[in-house]
Amino acid sequence: MPIDLTRWVPPDDGALFVVSGASGVGKTTLVREALARIPHLVFSVSATTRAPRSGEVEGVDYTFVSEARFDALVGQDAFLEHATVYGNRYGTLREPVAQAVARGTSVLLDIDVQGAAQVRSRWPGAVTLFVLPPSLEVLAERLKRRGTDAPDVLERRIRQAHLHLASCGSFDYLVLNDRLEAACDQLQAILVAELLKRGRRASWVRRFTQA
Ligand code: 5GP
Repeated sequence: MPIDLTRWVPPDDGALFVVSGASGVGKTTLVREALARIPHLVFSVSATTRAPRSGEVEGVDYTFVSEARFDALVGQDAFLEHATVYGNRYGTLREPVAQAVARGTSVLLDIDVQGAAQVRSRWPGAVTLFVLPPSLEVLAERLKRRGTDAPDVLERRIRQAHLHLASCGSFDYLVLNDRLEAACDQLQAILVAELLKRGRRASWVRRFTQA
């Protein structure tokens, strides 16, 4: 039974959600589905030095920047977190995230485990989720089938997957992506429960506790 969110009231305070997981685990699809299902939830568009892949749109999937521009942003302390992943640099700009959360809009970050660790220490209250594959073998198979990477990159991604999975113990929630629909439902349940926490609903508490 799907959760009916047609009369959903956004919280007073937005949440910062971090979704991580080894590449090929289906994170991007899960994140897209969560954004479609949960009202007042926006995607944090990262800056990256990676070249756009076919179909990727500037400002929607990523903000594509030069190494020099990325260095300048690091110098200005503009990033909430940043990391080098498979030789490319990625970072979350702090200002748009802070502004959205202050308005009651929740923000979802799709970032790697290094970035997640930085957010955990710099943004107390961030809710961290890790997407698990059914097994390492299934993950390697998915990566091969995806076919977006050169063979050396693919090999590195598979090796890195072991390391990434080892960090799952530091996350608040684990979502097992065995069947996509079930994983989407689990992710939605986590996000909805977090957004219904009393701490984010001061106006509801006031309405029902003031005489
Ligand atoms: P891809 O190049 O396949 O889009 O992403 C590679 C990895 O970089 C993925 O694990 C993705 O989650 C991660 N990533 C994307 N944006 C950011 C970011 O802003 N910060 C960090 N730390 N990782 C990111």
